Amino acid sequence: MIFKSTTNIDIPVKGVYQALINEANEDATFIDGITGEKLTLDKLSSDSKKLAAGLIDKAGFNRGDVLAIFSPNQVDYPTVIFGTIAAGGIVTFVDSKYTVDEVAYQLKDSGAKYIVVFPSLLSKAIEAADAVNIPRSNIFLFGNEEIDEIKPYSFLKSEREVNPIEYSPEDAKSTTAYLSYSSGTTGKNKGVETTHSNIVTNLAQIGCNNDDVNSSTIFIGVLPLHHVYSIITLIHLTLLKGASVVLIPNFEFDLPTFCKTIQDYKVNVIHFIPSIAMSLVKDPISRKYDLSSLRSCISSAAPLSKELADSFARMFVPIRQSYGATEYSFTHFVKYSENIPIESIGKPIPNVECKIISEKGKELGYNQEGELCVRGPNVMKGYLNNKEATDACIDNEGWFHTGDIAKVDEFGNFYIVDRSKELIKYQGHQVSPTELESILNSHQSIDDAAVIGVYAEQEATECPAAYISLKQNVLESDQLKQEIKRYVEKRVPPYKRLSGGILFIDKIPKSSSGKILKKVLRNRIKKEHPYY
Ligand code: AMP
Repeated sequence: MIFKSTTNIDIPVKGVYQALINEANEDATFIDGITGEKLTLDKLSSDSKKLAAGLIDKAGFNRGDVLAIFSPNQVDYPTVIFGTIAAGGIVTFVDSKYTVDEVAYQLKDSGAKYIVVFPSLLSKAIEAADAVNIPRSNIFLFGNEEIDEIKPYSFLKSEREVNPIEYSPEDAKSTTAYLSYSSGTTGKNKGVETTHSNIVTNLAQIGCNNDDVNSSTIFIGVLPLHHVYSIITLIHLTLLKGASVVLIPNFEFDLPTFCKTIQDYKVNVIHFIPSIAMSLVKDPISRKYDLSSLRSCISSAAPLSKELADSFARMFVPIRQSYGATEYSFTHFVKYSENIPIESIGKPIPNVECKIISEKGKELGYNQEGELCVRGPNVMKGYLNNKEATDACIDNEGWFHTGDIAKVDEFGNFYIVDRSKELIKYQGHQVSPTELESILNSHQSIDDAAVIGVYAEQEATECPAAYISLKQNVLESDQLKQEIKRYVEKRVPPYKRLSGGILFIDKIPKSSSGKILKKVLRNRIKKEHPYY
């Protein structure tokens, strides 16, 4: 059975700059939650055109060039996005928590020629840029200071303003604007090609369902802007509706700063993840602040339990659940009414289709669990330079196979009930089991390893846990577990650590073709892990 949107809308197909900056609401404002600095639409419009001119005139930027932003949330982030877009370029968003190797991998894979980096991340950026031969003259800093002969990006701003590149409907459909990185259903991180049309479409699809957002709405920007969901909700939606967003840096989540920002700026809307909802509910610190300005809280990126949603609603306001993925410019479902159960992700947004299929590919009906497939103008063009991975998830009828297990009730409300793909989400961050497995397999004592997620109820998040079989004559011990944990810690950012622990096993179960039988391990871990 194919489920279609109940409404369809006219969606203009054009470039991101034209749809977002030229047509933005003039009240839109970005505020730096740390410095208090403000970026109004007027300034964003003028600065981005000056930056585009400077990129072209002073840095030799060409149409189609890729610029990497490597920064936590801060107020100049939008200027660099729209400056690059105005110059006809592509933005790739680098997670500010990445290690040097991860940054270098993304720079190389995306073909980035330019980097704009937050000052405290400069040494990492230089090391990564050196590794992939990006000249230091193409690295620029956020802020106004020059450090070690690396110039601030404001140095690039020209006196003149460019006319931002315009796109015909055909070009808007085929031209990539953003390159976010996602491991998708399996394997290493891949560059998700989000086109101008994908972005403009998704903005129209969610814009028509956010009538309560207007010039007096104040968002808090706590989710990291390198994720397309944050870009869409905290930058695009804000611009469209003329709302304000107070951006706070996301190096480490700090509950007192978060609560104080909500109190001081009288924040109305939070887009967050279940683990943040859990800390607001559980930590008495949240009771020390006046959070009565909150009107709307939207949780995404990971499953939200009914218990947590109920506790949160009793203390603050009801939470709405949002679901999506980088590959379909995030949003594909929306809750049209308050009567939809909290566990549901809602109904399809305008102009899209969905179906649920069995393992054999048969279309399923109401209340039958299977893999969710989605189709629509918000689905990515594909993975950059990776036809094999693209073909593995988008079939020849244009259906994107999500790797999420879902069901739909007789009222047309969708529910995510499980995940068949390998991905683990730790506090909203993607953790690729394949990546951790290859690190573990390089350890001298390890014969074979398999990484799966375990659910930590207390923190409302999945955590990566490893099953490990040791080489002959290596003895199992707690000391060895600690050493292996440290071995991984040295090679990954904190959120990829084996926070779910290590379990020894005689042999990793595999299929005849050598594929790890993760389902077997997922069932087994429920019997032997302390979280269950
Ligand atoms: P990302 O591309 O990093 O946004 O990851 C997308 C994946 O996160 C989805 O395919 C789901 O597996 C998971 N996800 C996102 N939102 C939810 C949700 N509300 N409930 C359950 N899983 C979710």
